[in-house]
Amino acid sequence: MEANALTTTSDSIQPVRFYQSDYHVRTPEMRSPEFVQMSTAAAITLGLTPGKMHRTPCTHCLNLLVTYPEGCRANCAYCGLARHREEARDYADRNFIRVDWPTARYDDVIARVKAGADHGRFERMCISMITHPRSNDDTFVLLERWVCEVPRVPVSILSNPTTLEKDDLERMRDIGTDIFTVALDAVTPAIFERTRGKGVDSPHKFGHYWRAIEWAAEIFGPEKFGAHLICGLGETEREILEVAQAIRDMGGHNHMFAFFPERGSLMEDWPPADRGQWRRVQLARYIIDYAGGNARDMEFDAEGRVTGYGVPRATLEALIDSGKPFRTSGCPGRQDDVSACNRPYGDSSPTDILSFPFAPQRRDVEKVRRQMNGENVRAGI
Ligand code: SF4
Repeated sequence: MEANALTTTSDSIQPVRFYQSDYHVRTPEMRSPEFVQMSTAAAITLGLTPGKMHRTPCTHCLNLLVTYPEGCRANCAYCGLARHREEARDYADRNFIRVDWPTARYDDVIARVKAGADHGRFERMCISMITHPRSNDDTFVLLERWVCEVPRVPVSILSNPTTLEKDDLERMRDIGTDIFTVALDAVTPAIFERTRGKGVDSPHKFGHYWRAIEWAAEIFGPEKFGAHLICGLGETEREILEVAQAIRDMGGHNHMFAFFPERGSLMEDWPPADRGQWRRVQLARYIIDYAGGNARDMEFDAEGRVTGYGVPRATLEALIDSGKPFRTSGCPGRQDDVSACNRPYGDSSPTDILSFPFAPQRRDVEKVRRQMNGENVRAGI
């Protein structure tokens, strides 16, 4: 046991089993693969953290994050985990996609899931990598153990191409990864360079990220790879949808995030994604990924806004009424076009929902329609 993975109580020294982010106390030294961080929604679903989520009983994805006191060595402008925060926050205390990520022993996480502490609600597990010298090797260890001990729950890898080579992807496939995803996030080389590359003294390269997507298409095959794309970093609707189409043309899926100004990030003063822009991109993405549509059949105005979706009116109305296009997009669970990774309130507050972590009801869809028409209304309350 590592000397300082301990915590002190009034009269004795206890090994850390579960650490709730708290920057008022000295953060214990916790390292993967012995320890992993998890989303607050996953900790609630696993019964490790008390709490309720608005109109959502749980998450269906156990989102895990590799963890090291040195943290991520990259410095992405919109990310709460970025290197520039190391003075202000220990790594295990940093917020990420709007929430805290408590830390637990991987042994305990596996034991709790095997014991049914999630009541069978996890339909997927995901390992998020970071830019750290140990990240590759520890991801292999975490993946191998999960596939061996909890084979009923498929695994996604949210990869970090900057530390990966092609044969690493082959190894992840051979160990048993179900879906391999690249967090491309920024959809143009210029925005990528500004938010993830030299613009913020960060090591990521757009070309290498795109190559990793091409490797994933070759190694994992259709429906078994994807990319994270962020809407609202300065790209046009046309630009993000043409990238989504290129990924779909290779057989992959697009997992969309509405830009949210993360507390403590270099972009905490940026405006969140425009609701109308986001709704149009959500709808068009769903049409490309799941309704047989194509960005090449879509129409755009001079500002690159979607003005036509390239499908018959009746089809469009039925898709909007279904509410499905406006749900969180991500790796599937038991239904192919419904994300197990529903990331409750990962890109918006419960009082102004952008990605619905549950099936939108009629009243929600009415609000969405008004937002698409440019009305300044909030959805989801
Ligand atoms: S969509 Fe969710 S499960 Fe899939 S790679 Fe991204 S974070 Fe992981």
